[in-house]
Amino acid sequence: MPDALLLHACCAPCAAYPLRALLAGSPAARILVWFYNPNIHPAAEYRRRRDALAYLHARRGDFLPAGARVELDVSAPYRPEEFLGPAALCPRRPVRCAMCYRLRLTAAARRARELGLPAFTSSLLYSRRQDHASVAAGGEAAAAGEGVSFLYRDFRAGWKEGRELSLGLDVYRQSYCGCLYGETDN
Ligand code: SF4
Repeated sequence: MPDALLLHACCAPCAAYPLRALLAGSPAARILVWFYNPNIHPAAEYRRRRDALAYLHARRGDFLPAGARVELDVSAPYRPEEFLGPAALCPRRPVRCAMCYRLRLTAAARRARELGLPAFTSSLLYSRRQDHASVAAGGEAAAAGEGVSFLYRDFRAGWKEGRELSLGLDVYRQSYCGCLYGETDN
């Protein structure tokens, strides 16, 4: 684990456990939590997940070590066309989801590089509903393309702990993955 890294956050309930796990191993590390998810549909749901992440960050003192250096950046503009354009070319799973991971992880790798952070990882590695191998492959490819490191962790090991965390903190927990296609084939 490097001294500083970017954690791409797909949503608050998936980000809670990875934050705790990363800091358990490296309590002095600086973590920038970054929200970039143009796949989320509709805009109201996007705002709800973004706001839930801000809520989780505000409650960080309730589940992370005192003095944890965790910052939050939710400033990326919502541009659903960045997802919908490529999705129109590959509307079915699993190709669409692989594209979706790669899109978000490439942006995360680029953001890490721009900020001078040596590595990044993603809360997508926590979800048992995602194609874990495809997320990992997308992260590695994105890292190679941007010249940063991808920190792979199988956060699914903490799925139960993360679920209890988000329930205990009363974090908004969505009922579907995110995109407008997901309601039909998730
Ligand atoms: S189902 Fe989820 S991972 Fe797949 S394309 Fe939709 S939002 Fe992305």
